[in-house]
Amino acid sequence: MTEFLRGSCLCGGVAYKADKATLSGASHCYCHMCQKQHGAASGTYANVASAGFSYERGAELVHEYHSSGHGRRGFCKVCGSTLTWRSTQAPDRIAITLGTMEPEYVGPVQHELHTESKPRWLPKA
Ligand SMILES: [Zn+2]
Ligand SMILES: [Zn+2]
Repeated sequence: MTEFLRGSCLCGGVAYKADKATLSGASHCYCHMCQKQHGAASGTYANVASAGFSYERGAELVHEYHSSGHGRRGFCKVCGSTLTWRSTQAPDRIAITLGTMEPEYVGPVQHELHTESKPRWLPKA
């Protein structure tokens, strides 16, 4: 039996599910593109298998912005929630935003990426 994790955007128009067993590599990414897209210190994502990922509703509301030659950033066209990041160079996996998961993600965050551009205004750990 596949156990699913679920999530949705701020307006609730988009909902997704993913195979929980494939979740890996939770990370805070401090690159400038993630900061711009999220309007925040980082984009926080974990990878799941593409094969086990699907939209339960609102797939037609998701727009993918091409942020680089291979990067695709999925967001809700109604409320702007960032939902996914994927690379056309790695079609077997898709990254989903931890902040959109319901119930809340409770696992560890294993990685911090692009710490050279980590904002200096973040609280000190
Ligand atoms: Zn929405
Ligand atoms: Zn990033």
